[in-house]
Amino acid sequence: MAGPQGEIETLIGLMARLPGLGPRSARRAVLHLLKKRDLLMAPLAAAMARTAATTRDCAICGNLGSDELCGICTDPKRSTGEICVVEDVADLWALEQSGAFRGRYHVLGGTLSPLDAVGPDDLRIPDLVARVIDTSTTEVILALPATVDGQTTAHYLADALAPTGVAVSSLAQGVPVGGELDYLDEGTITAALRARRRF
Ligand code: ZN
Repeated sequence: MAGPQGEIETLIGLMARLPGLGPRSARRAVLHLLKKRDLLMAPLAAAMARTAATTRDCAICGNLGSDELCGICTDPKRSTGEICVVEDVADLWALEQSGAFRGRYHVLGGTLSPLDAVGPDDLRIPDLVARVIDTSTTEVILALPATVDGQTTAHYLADALAPTGVAVSSLAQGVPVGGELDYLDEGTITAALRARRRF
């Protein structure tokens, strides 16, 4: 039996690059979509095209939204004194889901990684330092992964922010080693945030 050709093969190749999908599951997903062309594949393709065209990174914090500034940065009810630093938008969403934090965020877009040649200027680190200097920030809360790269990044940020005089704290124990914030349940996130300690 001949395998998929041309466009279908291209689609499978793209799907296989999604997190959690390998070539086998990408093939299954594409076959499923092709069976449901009208009910699922066409609306999915249209929604993807619309989302790709309208989504942008918030100019202040890096969260995703459809305007220059996200809903959190423009919410007057949220404290401007506390900035919670996360690796990724998924972590921001996990913290929001917990409802435990009422300040604002800063999405780094990754962690420092000498092995992968990711340096401070590849992340939103200079933006963070400038933001702390320019605004009335009193505390920066680091909610970074308990991995080597995550902790390297935390130490780097604490050093970079030291001259500004801002308080730097870190989420308490509760973030499992190698675990990412978006795998934690809401109670664990809330507890980790409440028990944060000076870095
Ligand atoms: Zn924002």
